[in-house]
Amino acid sequence: DELRTLLLSRIHDVPDYPRPGVVFKDITPLLADPAAFGALTDALAALCRAYRADKVVGLEARGFILAAPVAVSAGVGFVPVRKAGKLPGATLRQAYDLEYGTAEIELHADALRPGDRVLVIDDVLATGGTAEASLHLIRRAGAEVAGVAVLLELGFLDGRQRLQASLDGAPLEAL
Ligand code: IMP
Repeated sequence: DELRTLLLSRIHDVPDYPRPGVVFKDITPLLADPAAFGALTDALAALCRAYRADKVVGLEARGFILAAPVAVSAGVGFVPVRKAGKLPGATLRQAYDLEYGTAEIELHADALRPGDRVLVIDDVLATGGTAEASLHLIRRAGAEVAGVAVLLELGFLDGRQRLQASLDGAPLEAL
């Protein structure tokens, strides 16, 4: 549809970044276009309301950029999930597998409460490892996963399949 066409037209393919053979999806042209960024924010905020989420979690780093205006627009709190070592308070930490090696992300231990319904937002769903780890953090904090929303899903990497179990019936929307 119209939104999809607009968003796709503002995402640029960068060949051989960050490594030879990889085509990087660059969303900076979308962020620089207020019509496209506004339409994306509106669509994500509508999902936030439809899922009756009362917190949005943004995944570092580009997830922050998308999730922050959604939180303001939907009138809910913004909570960052960050790479290990960046949050100042007591945290929950979750490791996950990368193509080569592992990575760790963290959530402030007191950022979510039991009963909170959380919408996770990121720019790109690739292998799904980052999103999957964030869902574990949210459940470990005692909160409920209302859904996951991303701008773009790289279907050929099967992230949706990897997320299936940890979604546990919650919706995954790729705009
Ligand atoms: P995953 O854990 O493999 O799903 O990787 C997702 C993370 O890598 C997200 O936080 C994305 O921001 C980032 N990422 C992976 N591929 C791309 C891309 O082509 N463009 C922008 N970000 C990407």
